[in-house]
Amino acid sequence: MSADIIDGKAFAATVREKVAAHVVRLKSDHNITPGLAVVLVGEDPASEVYVRNKGKQTLECGMNSYEHKLPADTPEAEVLDLIDQLNNDPAVHGILCQLPVPDHIDSDKVLNAISPAKDVDGFHISNVGLLATGQKSMVPCTPLGCLMMLRERHGSLSGMNAVVVGRSNIVGKPMAALLLKDSCTVTIAHSRTKNIEALCQTADILVAAVGRPQMITGDWVKPGATVIDVGINRIPAPERGEGKMRLVGDVDFASASEVAGAITPVPGGVGPMTIACLLANTVTACCRANGLTEPEGLTA
Ligand code: NDP
Repeated sequence: MSADIIDGKAFAATVREKVAAHVVRLKSDHNITPGLAVVLVGEDPASEVYVRNKGKQTLECGMNSYEHKLPADTPEAEVLDLIDQLNNDPAVHGILCQLPVPDHIDSDKVLNAISPAKDVDGFHISNVGLLATGQKSMVPCTPLGCLMMLRERHGSLSGMNAVVVGRSNIVGKPMAALLLKDSCTVTIAHSRTKNIEALCQTADILVAAVGRPQMITGDWVKPGATVIDVGINRIPAPERGEGKMRLVGDVDFASASEVAGAITPVPGGVGPMTIACLLANTVTACCRANGLTEPEGLTA
């Protein structure tokens, strides 16, 4: 293996330390404690795990965590009322509605009901527009985490060729916007892209956000490229016992790490950075709400 491993777990710990240090200053100098409210509708087990982890890490960074768990049959209007209350609550600086929401609730309506200033997931249409036009915004956590790792590795990204595989609103599109803002030459690939393998071979930075286990193999990777694997896929792992599963990315780590210059593993790459960036966004939102200096290196 020739590639350097980009250790997202260790990097996320440094981001959390920066967040915690800033929280200490906000408390001591301004008597302000940042607060993050998480809304969970329904009993999706994976969402419950995410919400628990988010709450735990929020408290560990010295911030306040407010969890609102609503039954799966909660009417949309009640969810919107709760968002309205949180928008008007000065103790709450960040609001996140855990996706997916049950089918009877319009997720776009809920996401766009969150005050843009408290939209720590960066999914509100105003933040999407601000990011698309290169302005200061709340930035979606997963692409923000990827950008931080890329900047840490390369310093300036200016002039690099970046290929983002995947065009979702939560990963692919904001990732491409961030790379463009950092002056990369960006191409977005998707399921209709022709000759995708050859396109990927042109990438100095290759970001995979597809949701297909190990789709991108070493022969798609330009020698020396930096590969960021956003994918989280569960595949059978009979070697671990009957019925056991394991996590893999969208990149075939074994072959890609023979060719790449640097690569994020799955697990332990992009995943840990996502929650760390949620905490970073909450502190940023708190500072902006109070007209205070934002922590350095925690925004795009
Ligand atoms: P979506 O399903 O919303 O989007 C997947 C994208 O991949 C689509 O744009 C789709 O193209 C494209 N695609 C699908 N098949 C192919 C193919 N054969 N060739 C090229 N492109 C293809 O997924 P998300 O963006 O939400 O997530 C992507 C992955 O990242 C998932 O594994 C998810 O679990 C993971 N993830 C990880 C996070 C983390 O914290 N690490 C956070 C969020 C997601 P088209 O638009 O044409 O259909």
